[in-house]
This record gives sequence, C-alpha cells and structure tokens, in this order.
Amino acid sequence: MSAFTDKVSKRRTFAIISHPDAGKTTLTEKFLLYGGAIQEAGMVKGKQHMRHAVSDWMEIEKQRGISVTSSVLQFNYGGYCINILDTPGHQDFSEDTYRTLMAADSAVMVIDASKGVEDQTRKLFKVCAMRHIPIFTFINKMDREAKDPYELLEEIEQELGVETYPINWPIGCGKEFKGVYEREKREVIRFVAASKGARNKAEEIITAVDDPSLKEAIGDDYYATLQDDVELLDGAGAVFDLDRVHEGKLSPVCFGSALTNFGVEPFLEHFLDFSTPPMPRMSDEGPIDPMSEDFSAFVFKIQANMNSRHRDRMAFMRICSGTFTKGMDVYHVQGKKKIKLNQSKSLMADEREEIQEAYSGDIIGVFDPGIFSIGDTIVTGKKHFAFEGIPTFAPEHFARIRNRDTMKRKQFVKGITQIAQEGAIQIFTELGGGFEEIIVGVVGVLQFEVLAYRLKNEYNVEIVNTPLPYQFIRWVVNKDIDVKTLNLSSDTKYVEDLKGNTLLLFSNTWGINWATERNSGLELAEFSKN
Ligand code: GDP
Repeated sequence: MSAFTDKVSKRRTFAIISHPDAGKTTLTEKFLLYGGAIQEAGMVKGKQHMRHAVSDWMEIEKQRGISVTSSVLQFNYGGYCINILDTPGHQDFSEDTYRTLMAADSAVMVIDASKGVEDQTRKLFKVCAMRHIPIFTFINKMDREAKDPYELLEEIEQELGVETYPINWPIGCGKEFKGVYEREKREVIRFVAASKGARNKAEEIITAVDDPSLKEAIGDDYYATLQDDVELLDGAGAVFDLDRVHEGKLSPVCFGSALTNFGVEPFLEHFLDFSTPPMPRMSDEGPIDPMSEDFSAFVFKIQANMNSRHRDRMAFMRICSGTFTKGMDVYHVQGKKKIKLNQSKSLMADEREEIQEAYSGDIIGVFDPGIFSIGDTIVTGKKHFAFEGIPTFAPEHFARIRNRDTMKRKQFVKGITQIAQEGAIQIFTELGGGFEEIIVGVVGVLQFEVLAYRLKNEYNVEIVNTPLPYQFIRWVVNKDIDVKTLNLSSDTKYVEDLKGNTLLLFSNTWGINWATERNSGLELAEFSKN
C-alpha cells in the first residue's frame, strides 16, 4: 500500500446529528479528548466565550454567542484520522446543516434517552437516509431517567425506518444506572461512580457476564433482568450484517453517558470498526475512486465575508480523490477555468490555520473570489467530470421581502441574488414575475436576520420583512403540468425559483394532501436535484 492509499484508508469523515441538547457537543468533546486534540474537557463546550475565537466574522454571531456556520474538527485516534463535521442546530439550523451531511461518509446520531427521537434528528436523518450512508446511534444520558431501551429502539425503527442492532445493552438508568453489557465480549462495563462535572471520567469495572461476583455487584433484580435481556437479544434480535450497516439500513446502537464519559470510548472503537473509509463519489463520468491520485473535490458550503472589510468568501470543499497541496493549480469544471487554490484553512474550530496538505475524505476551506457555487467540482486530472449536484432542501420559513428605498433597486437585486447564490436563502417569485414581488424561504429563521444584516452592511439596503404563513414547499416534479390548472386548496400558492422550477407553497400538510389526492399524477418533491 502506498503512503497515499494508507492515509486515505485510515480516514473517517462523519457528521454528528442530533436534536439540540441531546449531548452532541459533550460527545464531540469526549472524542477530542481521546484523540488528544484538546487537553481538557470544557474547551468545546464554553460556547459563549469560544465563539469569538471560532468565528468573529459576523456581528450576529458575537451578539448571540452562536455559530452561524458549521465547522470541522480533525483528530487522530488509534491510527485513524477522524474528521467530525458539526451540523449547526438551535436557531442557527440552516440549509448548511443539511449540506454538511453531503460531505460526510457516515453519521453519528445522538439521542437523549429520556426523549427519544426528536424533531431535528428526524429532519437530519431523512437527509442521511436519502444518501444511504451508515448511521451509528449513541443513546445518551443513561445516567438520567431514561425510556425503556426496547421502547427506544422500537421508536427509532418506527419513526426513522431503520433497523437497529444494539451493540451493548444498558443495565438500569438514572441513579440506578449500573452500566452496559457488551454483547460481543459478553462482559459488563460497570458504571461505578457518577462523577460530577465534565472533567471527570466515571469509574468503570469490567466483569464477565457469567462472573459470580456480578450478581452481588448489580443486585439480584438487575442481574435477573440482564439474564432475560441477554437471552432475548441473542434469540430474537436482528442479525448483525455489516453490509446492511454500510447501506444505511441497519444502525448499530450504543448506550452511554457522554457527560460522565461512560461508554464513549467503546462507542468510538465500534464506530471505527464498522465505518468505512471514504467511498467513491458519483460523477457524470461514473464513480470517482477516492484512491485515485488525481485530485478532485466538490464545494458543499460557501461562507461569505469573514472579514467585513473585504467581500471575500470561503468555499468549503470535500476532497473526493487525490492529495491537496497548498497553492496547487486546479481546473474549475463549472467555471471552465484553471485556478490556483489559495488560503486553504483547516477548520479546527478555534484556529483557522493554513494547511499544507489534505487527502481524500478531508474538508478544506479555500479562498473564493466569487467564482464558486454550491456543488461545483474542481479536478486536476485530464478528465473534467462533474460530481453529482447537491440538492436544494425545502425551506420551512417564508417571508415577503421588500426593498424600503425603491431608489436602491439595483443594489437590492444584486445583494439578494448574491446571497441566494451562496445558498444562504432561497428566492421565489410569482410565476413569470420579476423581482417586484420576492418571497424568501429559509431553512432556519436566523437566516432572515443574517439576510437583513448583510444587505444593510454589504449593500447598504434596508428591507421590510413580512412573514408569510407557509410552512411547506414542494417542487413540482412533472415538467409538463400547467400549475394554473391544478385543483389546489385556496391557501396554496404557486411560485417559481431562480432556475425556473415551479413550486407549491402550503400552510399545512392538509394542503399537500389535497394537492396530491385531487391531481392524479402530480409528483411533489422535498428536495430539488437541480
Ligand atoms: P448539544 O446541544 O446536543 O450540543 O448538547 P450539549 O452537549 O450541549 O448538552 C446539553 C446538556 O446536556 C448540557 O447541560 C450537558 O452537560 C448535558 N449532558 C450531555 N450529556 C449528558 C449525559 O450523558 N448525562 C447528563 N446527565 N447530562 C448530559
């Protein structure tokens, strides 16, 4: 194996998905601790003060103490080089959250054991499922009162439509949390002392499941339950099939407690065992082999104006083959031009240091003089292929946006189209209408604030924002349908996007059902591939 293929085969690039507060930050922090990337717990966590260092490019971020953009963390563990892609949550949930998933090879899904499957997890899961990437589940907060583990698995299977395979099994929960049973090794990792605070690791004792001392250690009742559970799991549970894991059909599940650092390292090790190195990516010339030495990458995120004095942008790329070296010459397929890749930053959250080399599977951020669009491909080889595009995801919040000062129409149109081109917002207009009536759709409401802020600061334009009651948008897949002839509920609106696609706006799911039930053959999509 060459040094290059060795490096690629040891790479693991995954996104962490969860609903806010499930413990994503805490789990990430523990991963980094194991990798030695940070020295003490709390470094990732201190959201308020950390944000200044992480990204001070936008006032909104500073004011709110949140990050508007997602970041990537890289660390080494057990001979692997691991890239964690953070998916922004809370109010900063945006289309970037979804796009980040396009750059990952697998996903880690963190679930709060007392809450089960929550709204944001459901949304992010849908995108992972669309890509058929492996999904590894960590059921967190077992040191708190939790739902019954069978119920939790049932919920995941029912709500998300994925089979589950428990790698370990919890014994009790909350104050009575005794630890987990590792099924393959047939041993119990006992949770001895729930330590307070993030810095400490819970004490663990490992005991074989048939060790006579176990009964005394965990108590008769828990011991009896464990025996039943072991029998049940061995007898009735799903078979572990690694191929199905890789197809995203079967999710390995671990139980633990990120805060007390219990079960995190075993989870990481299981993850490394079962996850794949970078996989081939589809292009218009067929799949591109990550082990190919010719460099190729695609843009999955564009971030504007990190320095407010310059209109510069960063384009974030996922490397799909070959090696990136600083200042290299590449060919930008969509722009049909040779360019030099400059100022590539590694995305370690607290330091945007310039990187010298990166490989298939890694993420780099490069200086963008305004030439890239989301989904663009760059290559160094002779073949100028283009990777499959990144879908446009359905926005969930809509507003009518008007320019306050009609004299500034030019700046307004320029600003709003540029911001839309970066993928921060989506613009819709009346069918055949121009920019007189603009409806803006966003995935997360914060994007409206970002839009207003940026139009004012970068284009000197003030806008009036009138929220609209729509909640759902669907692309009309049928190209041959005249939407004006459709039978729609009275509150359904039809619009078009900048690419001329026709879409329907609905205030509720009832309206969607109306449309599909009364217009046979009408096909509606939640994603747009072009
Ligand atoms: P995120 O929003 O998903 O990033 O969640 P955080 O990692 O910020 O965690 C949310 C809250 O849950 C914080 O107060 C954490 O300290 C707490 N938390 C995280 N993991 C655990 C856990 O395993 N047990 C308990 N009891 N609390 C946890």
